Amino acid sequence: MKDREVILSKIREYTPEMVAVRRSFHRYPELGWCEFRTASIIAYQLRKLGYRILTGPEVTPEALRMGVPSKEELKEAYSEAIRNGAITEELLPMNGGFTGVVGILENGSGPVFGMRFDMDALPIQEADWGQEYRSVRPGIMHACGHDAHAAIGLTVAKILSECRNMWSGTVKFFFQPAEEGARGARTMAGSGLLDDVDMILGCHIFGREGRKEPHADVLPGAVGSLATTKMDVVFHGKSAHAGSFPEKGKNAILAMAAAITNLYATPRHSQGNSRVNVGTVHAGSGRNIIAEEACMELEVRGINSVVNRYMEEYARQVIEGAALMHGCTCTIETVGSCTSVESTDRLSSLVQEACTDMGLIPTSYLHEHSEGSEDFSYLMDTVKSHGGEAAFAILLNNTQGPGHSPTFDIDESAMANGAAVMLGTVLNVMGKETL
Ligand SMILES: [Zn+2]
Ligand SMILES: [Zn+2]
Repeated sequence: MKDREVILSKIREYTPEMVAVRRSFHRYPELGWCEFRTASIIAYQLRKLGYRILTGPEVTPEALRMGVPSKEELKEAYSEAIRNGAITEELLPMNGGFTGVVGILENGSGPVFGMRFDMDALPIQEADWGQEYRSVRPGIMHACGHDAHAAIGLTVAKILSECRNMWSGTVKFFFQPAEEGARGARTMAGSGLLDDVDMILGCHIFGREGRKEPHADVLPGAVGSLATTKMDVVFHGKSAHAGSFPEKGKNAILAMAAAITNLYATPRHSQGNSRVNVGTVHAGSGRNIIAEEACMELEVRGINSVVNRYMEEYARQVIEGAALMHGCTCTIETVGSCTSVESTDRLSSLVQEACTDMGLIPTSYLHEHSEGSEDFSYLMDTVKSHGGEAAFAILLNNTQGPGHSPTFDIDESAMANGAAVMLGTVLNVMGKETL
């Protein structure tokens, strides 16, 4: 039997297990930097398969992490992960939110091929439509398909370890925490673990709706997702009696309000699309008190890094200017960011060929603009910066409900397609059998 046929039969054999793993991750979703149960299961399974495992600050250097929850939240999530069946022997290095896992399998000479899968869920209460794998954790839900991505990664790792006779080189699996809010990739990219990676491939499940070729299974190489920066801002003023001595106060709410209206007045950039959004505000302590403090969460986005940087710098200028205008000060913390995803031609072509080899339908074109933002771009940029190749493949399927909504669900058949694309591409890059 040809190697590709052996791989396809293994994918068929392991699909029920892959679906069961996805459903287990779905039942026990975990927010960014809190993926203790998910990551410990992944580390344990990969270790059993013969992978060398790296976890802890070596994989996610502390100084480069962004948007990490408080110590109390991390501690509570850690305890709950143990109650929900985390593998305790893998947990210790992850304590404190170091939930990235890298699994390495060296198998003779050849290229180093990286694959990235994200693991985190979202703060959403899942709708109940009778699904037996519904989230058991109130207010937390896998509404972006990362449960499926993680399960695909485990299946790909299993098949590659069982089929070592079919390929030569090194595979490196990057199981990434905290993709939501674009927080986790930058630290993995800065770990040095991508320095020897020649090619890196990631995938994401998205709906077919509105696509140019809706019958296709896979878009080989996404391009042009929005670069973004997420910021937490605090305006510091001075409280005073609103009736007796308003002139003695410095009104933090006034500074924030001036900032918000002017953020939305940012002039456009000639290079293309941009976004700005203030998503939450919290301020003040009482009706008759000049507000001492005002906090807001905002984000900017841009069609490329130039436009995003422009939006970010303009936002900083507006915020600092608004604070100054009302005698306040401000602190601006970057809690997430990513560049634009730009898949390279060569690896995208190899993905496209892999689809055909594995009996899937790729889009007839290599690239298409991708909506939203995706921090895998940092891993891609790192590999490309030393001359490597990178691609982000979109697994098209009939999703239910909009992404990031309580009714979202995937069509699980996309998971076998995902495993086939990844494995087919590995064979195209370092397989021993020529077609
Ligand atoms: Zn998402
Ligand atoms: Zn996602």
